[in-house]
Amino acid sequence: MTDRPVAIVTGGSRGIGRAVALRLASDGHDIAFCYQSAGDAAATTAEKVRATGAACFSAACDVSDLAAAQEFVAAAKAELGDPEVLVNSAGILRDAPVAMMDGADWNAVIDTNLTGTFNLCRATVFDFIKNRRGSVVNISSVMGVHGNAGQANYSAAKAGINGMSKALAKETARYGVRVNVVAPGFIETDMTRSLPEKVRASALDKVALRRLGTPEDVADLVAFLASDQASYITGQVVQVDGGVVI
Ligand code: NAP
Repeated sequence: MTDRPVAIVTGGSRGIGRAVALRLASDGHDIAFCYQSAGDAAATTAEKVRATGAACFSAACDVSDLAAAQEFVAAAKAELGDPEVLVNSAGILRDAPVAMMDGADWNAVIDTNLTGTFNLCRATVFDFIKNRRGSVVNISSVMGVHGNAGQANYSAAKAGINGMSKALAKETARYGVRVNVVAPGFIETDMTRSLPEKVRASALDKVALRRLGTPEDVADLVAFLASDQASYITGQVVQVDGGVVI
């Protein structure tokens, strides 16, 4: 254990979660992150985190399983100490119009994106309250604010994250704990690289700044909201979308 503050990041093996882990490590945190199954990518993240001088604990953990989330947080605490930052970035897509969507795809997206976010909050927030210090940043999406055709499951999960985060912000503010949401637009990661070229082109068309975002664009905002520089900000949903919605 070191005397550096500890940040927990879900979905840290790739994409936005990896950029957040690296940014928080560079800002002086020790990092505990989880992932689902991409062990090689996770090893790369851990190596990059350690290269900043931070301590790093990583483990495979399915965030949709509350017992697994609690076990992961307990192991992270034993290794690094009590966390004071939690960033929920683990997420998946299973797109289809409602008229054709499998129930299993509805459930998988709700379970990972929304219940997974609840599970990690459930596993950490008690300590934040006890320690009178903590900052939660949940990654939602502009789709959770505005909805998107073909993404009813994802839009619902992300809207759920926005609502849950506002409720949690109200529950915990008196204990010195802040809870905010970052809602990205179209960010260049494996998630968007998997979309058909036509969908990517039409997404880009909607971006006022005429480029897709980078994971680092998102990590900059997450790091700000996680930090004491944002000590008077809680319960907010902040979009980082290049002006998709103005
Ligand atoms: P990504 O590159 O596909 O990475 C997803 C991450 O989540 C991976 O680390 C993955 O682990 C992990 N994960 C998935 N299911 C999990 C589970 N059940 N338990 C634990 N970890 C799990 O995605 P991304 O683009 O960085 O997205 C990160 C977050 O930003 C998501 O919540 C996404 O909805 C949100 N977001 C993304 C965009 C965008 O344009 N990319 C826009 C708005 C919001 P493995 O590596 O092991 O699979």
